[in-house]
Amino acid sequence: MNPHASKSPTNFKRENVYELSGDLLDPQELKSLGVSGCITYVLRHLPFKSTIHEKTREWEFTSRRGAATMYSSMNWLANSTYWKTKLVGWTGAIPIIPDDSSKESGESVTEITKKDVKNFEIAYKEWNSDKRTEYIPVWLTSCPHKEKHDEEVILCEDRSSQSRWLAYAENVIRPLIHYKYWPSTEVDENEERWWNDYVTMNEVFAEKICESYTPGDLIFVQDYSLFLVPKLVREKIPDAVIAFYHHHPFPSSEIARCFPRRNAILHALLECDFVGFEDYSYARHFISCCTRVLGFESGHDWVSYNSKRVIVRPLTVGIDVPRVIRSSGSAAVSTKIDELSSKYAGMKVILGRDRLDEIFGVPQKIISFQRLLRQYPEWRGKVVLIQITISSAFRHPKLSSHIHRLIDQTNSLYGSENYKPIIYYQDQIDAIDYFALLAFADSLFINSIREGISNIALEYVVCQRDRWGVVMLSEFTGTSAMLHDVPLINPWDHNETADIIDQVLSMSLEKRKSIQHESYKQVTTYTMQSWTSSLIRTLANKLAASKSGDLTPVLDYGHATSLYKEASRRLFMLDYDGTLTPIVRDPNAAVPSEKLLDSLRKLSADERNEVWIISGRDQKFLRQYMNDINGLGLSAEHGSFVRQPHSDKWTNLAELLDLSWKKDVKQIFQYFTDRTQGSSIEEKRCGMTWHYRKADPENGSFQAIECETLIEEMVCSRFDVEIMRGKANIEVRPSSINKGGIVKQILSSKSDESTPSFIFCAGDDRTDEDMFRSLNKKSNRINKNSSFAVTVGSPHKLTVADWCIPEAENVVDFLADLADLTDATELAKLAAAT
Ligand SMILES: [Mg+2]
Repeated sequence: MNPHASKSPTNFKRENVYELSGDLLDPQELKSLGVSGCITYVLRHLPFKSTIHEKTREWEFTSRRGAATMYSSMNWLANSTYWKTKLVGWTGAIPIIPDDSSKESGESVTEITKKDVKNFEIAYKEWNSDKRTEYIPVWLTSCPHKEKHDEEVILCEDRSSQSRWLAYAENVIRPLIHYKYWPSTEVDENEERWWNDYVTMNEVFAEKICESYTPGDLIFVQDYSLFLVPKLVREKIPDAVIAFYHHHPFPSSEIARCFPRRNAILHALLECDFVGFEDYSYARHFISCCTRVLGFESGHDWVSYNSKRVIVRPLTVGIDVPRVIRSSGSAAVSTKIDELSSKYAGMKVILGRDRLDEIFGVPQKIISFQRLLRQYPEWRGKVVLIQITISSAFRHPKLSSHIHRLIDQTNSLYGSENYKPIIYYQDQIDAIDYFALLAFADSLFINSIREGISNIALEYVVCQRDRWGVVMLSEFTGTSAMLHDVPLINPWDHNETADIIDQVLSMSLEKRKSIQHESYKQVTTYTMQSWTSSLIRTLANKLAASKSGDLTPVLDYGHATSLYKEASRRLFMLDYDGTLTPIVRDPNAAVPSEKLLDSLRKLSADERNEVWIISGRDQKFLRQYMNDINGLGLSAEHGSFVRQPHSDKWTNLAELLDLSWKKDVKQIFQYFTDRTQGSSIEEKRCGMTWHYRKADPENGSFQAIECETLIEEMVCSRFDVEIMRGKANIEVRPSSINKGGIVKQILSSKSDESTPSFIFCAGDDRTDEDMFRSLNKKSNRINKNSSFAVTVGSPHKLTVADWCIPEAENVVDFLADLADLTDATELAKLAAAT
C-alpha cells in the first residue's frame, strides 16, 4: 500500500533541514525542491512615484521614500546573488502635470489610456537603474467620470479619490494594529465601502501575481493593505509557496477581535506557508488570535489550518548596513555636518523624525522635552530638539495644530531672541540632510506609543559608529527587543522621560561607547541580508518538510471506491466525534446530520456491509440518535458496551471491572473544574472525562497537564487505569478497555470466508490510534492492500494510520458516495428481479 505506513515518531522530526540562520541559500541548492530561483515581492507600491504631463503624455518618475529595507532586499538578491526577483506593486495615485501653468499640479482629473500604460512601461525601464528586477505595475483602474469613459481610457479619477484604495488599510487596520480604536463614527459609516475597495485592490494584486507566476516561484507578500492576497492567490495556484511578513505590531487577541473583518483577514493569512513577524510577542498574539477567535489548534510556532501547519515565527528585520554607510559617508553629507556643527556650536542636539500620526507620540515627546527645560533649567539655551514630522496620505489636522500649539508654547516659555528650544520641520527632508542629521545629533528620540521595528533607530546607530550618540527609545516599539542596552522610555511618563533625557545628555563618553558598541553589534547582526536569508531558509524548510514523504497522504478516494465495489464483504469501523461530526464547543451539539444517518442506514442495509460506530460516547447518546438503525453495530465508551449489528441487546463488557478508582478521579477532576472556568466533568459508566473545550484554551491546556500529572501520581499507581488525552479533554478508564480491544474482537470473530475484503477504519484522536494499531497487526488475516486506516486531520499529524482525510465533512461525503453506490446496485438488482 502506501510506502509511509510504517513510521516511528522519530521520523517526524523534519524541521530544520536547513539551519534557520546562516548564509543565503543558493537557488541551485533548492532545485530538487522544485524552486524556480525567482522570488516575487508583493509590496504596496512600486519604488517610484509617477506623474504624467497632461498634453505631451510624457511620464516623470521620482524615487519613493519608505519601505527601503524591502526594496534593498529585492535589489540585493537581484544584483548580488543568483536569485531572480520580480516586484508586483501599485503605481500609486498619479497626479497630472498641467501644461496650462494657471492650474496647479495634481488638480486635474487623471486620465490614463492604454497607450499611456505602454509608454509607462518603456519610460520607467529607461529611468530605473535596477535593470535586473522585473517590475509588474498594478493599475487600480476605475472610471467614475462616466462621460469621459471610453475603451481606451483605463483610469480616470481625481488624485484625491485615488487614495480610497488605502482607506480601509489606513483608517481601520492601521489604528487597530497599533492598539487604537477608531475615534469617530466616520469608520462605522464608511466601513463597508472602504472594505469593498480593499477587496478589489487585493483582487487586482492577486491577478497580477498569478499572471506572472511560473511554477516554483516563491511569493513574499508584505503589507497590511494586502492581507487578502495570500488567499486569493492560493485559490488560483493551490501549490504556490507563499509567505507573508508583517512589518508592524500585531495586537493581542483582545484588540484583534475588534477587527470588523477579522475572520476574512485571519483566514486569508493562514493560506500562507509562513507568516513572519518582527517580534516574538507579535507572533504569539497572531497564534493566540487564531486559537481564540477561530478556534484552530496551534503550537509554539504553528497554526493548524485546512489540514496543514502554517509556520508562524518572529524574524528580526534589519537594514542594509553598507547602503547606510555609503549614503552617510558622502562628501555632500560631510559638508552638511560641518554646517550643522557651526550652527549648533556648544549645544546638544536631539533629533526626532516621525510620521504625522498619533501612534508616534509627538505631542507626548514635546511635553516631556518641555518638562526637561522646566525641571533642569541648566539645559535652557544649551539643548535643541529638531523635530521633523512627515505628513501622511491621510491628514490629521487636529493632531497637526496640537503639535504646533505645544511647540509655540515651549518656545515662548523657554526660548529667547537667540534661542529656540524646538526647531520644527514639516514634510520630508532630502537624503543628504537626513543622513547629516543622523550623523550629527547627540541623541535620537523615539517616543512612539506603539510601533514595530523603526528603521531610523537602526540607521542612527550605524551613522553614529564614530560619534557614540545614544537612542532614547519608547519601550512600546519592536526595536526595543533588538537594542537591549539603550535607555527605554515610557512615553506616558513625562517626568521620568525628562530625567532620562537629562541622563543621556550628561552621559559619560565611556557609557555612551559601551551602549553604541552593543547596539552596533545588534544592527550589523540582524541586517536586511540576514532577514532575507532566514526568510528563504524558512520557506525551504517548509518545502522540504512537505516533500519529505513522511507526511500521511490524503486518502485516494477513487482507489478506495473501486476496491469497495469489487469487495464481497466490507467492514466499516468509525469513530463518532471529530470523525463523523466536526468538533464543536458543546459536545451535546454534535448531533449526527441527516445526510450521515441516511448513509449509515443505506450502508448497513446492504448485506455485504458490516458497519460499526466505535465511540467514546456513552450508551445513552448512541441510543438516542442511532438506536433505530438496526443494522448498525454500536460500541460505547471505547468498547465497554457493545450492541451487535441486527440486535437490540447491549452487552456490558466492563461488568467485572473494578471501578473503585472513579471516586478518586472525580475528586481530582472536581478540583480542576473549580479552578478552570468553563470546564466540566462527564461521568460515564466505565470512565470519567474532564472537558475543557469551553475554557480559555491556554489555561485549559495548562491545567490539563497538571491534572494528568496528579492522576498519574495518585491513581495510576494504585489502579489498572490509563489516561487518554483527547481533543480538549482527558479521559480516565480501565487499561483493559480501549477501542483497539473492540476492533480485535470484531476481526477475530470472522472466519476465513467471512473475512472482509474491504475495511474502512476512521478516527480523529489519540484514542483511535488503538483501533489503527489493532487493524495493522500482522496476525490479522486481512489483506493490507484493501484495508484503510484513516485519520481525520492534517497530513502532519503524528499517527499510525496510513491515510488521512482533512475534515469530518469529507468522511461523511465519502460514506454518502459509497452509500449511493449501494443504492444504485440495489436498484439494479431490483430491476433485474422484476
Ligand atoms: Mg473522535
